[in-house]
Amino acid sequence: MNTLATRSVARMVRGMPTSDGAGVKLTRVIGQPQLPDLDPFLMLDEFGTDNPGDYIAGFPDHPHRGFETVTYMLDGRMRHRDNHGHEGVLVPGSVQWMSAGRGIVHSEMPEQQEGRMRGFQLWINLPAREKMTTPRYQEFGPETIPSVETGEARVKVIAGTVAGVSGPIVQPATDPTYLDIELPPGAPFTHALPAGHAAFVYVYEGAVRIGPEDSGTTLASHDLGVLGDGHSVHLTGQSGPGATEGPARAILVAGRPLREPVAKYGPFVMNTREELMQAFQDFQSGRF
Ligand code: MN
Repeated sequence: MNTLATRSVARMVRGMPTSDGAGVKLTRVIGQPQLPDLDPFLMLDEFGTDNPGDYIAGFPDHPHRGFETVTYMLDGRMRHRDNHGHEGVLVPGSVQWMSAGRGIVHSEMPEQQEGRMRGFQLWINLPAREKMTTPRYQEFGPETIPSVETGEARVKVIAGTVAGVSGPIVQPATDPTYLDIELPPGAPFTHALPAGHAAFVYVYEGAVRIGPEDSGTTLASHDLGVLGDGHSVHLTGQSGPGATEGPARAILVAGRPLREPVAKYGPFVMNTREELMQAFQDFQSGRF
């Protein structure tokens, strides 16, 4: 494989409808049988609905240990509360980056009775040496997420660097890139990605072609493309079938694989079965 090549789509995956929490309807894209994980990414959920019945029950108190959760709100408001004294309301355009570390118990509840709720939750693994660190909660309001225009493309930089502008999230272990990209039909966007980093594009409005104009792969809305290796990725907004009137919108996410054994059960992600059992014991005896 030529590792200097522009990355192309190695695999295409459609999300699976499911429900989680107290009955919130969502689409699981990573963390389902077609794509159980994409080291260092353990899960990607998309939630998006105008029907309060799909989200109103929320995610009452539940634990996490051993990884990070990243929530990116597009529409709606969600209140986070945890047992380490953190509380905050996620508003449209905001990001919550939570390192569960050695253990956190939190709730994620809608802060609205009606209207649209839409966004993503991504789970990023932590290396063995950081699984038992002190839990950390970081909230970034919409005004702290830089927006960069390159040509006709508009890019919100949550993590990583675009045209010299860096997003607020820094995580040396997995060195994540997390961009929210808006592309009018025909508009190109090229982004350098470290070779060897796992990477995917998930289209959530319209359609986007990945790769060269003449030989790329077109992803429609709600398609995830796992990218093959290479040093950059080239995206072009599409018009025509599957496209909307407005610009296409997609997230581009990448990170350094950890290449460590994964032992996971529900909200606990460790390296060994013994550590998993310890996590259950610690949670049940209130040591989170
Ligand atoms: Mn949670």
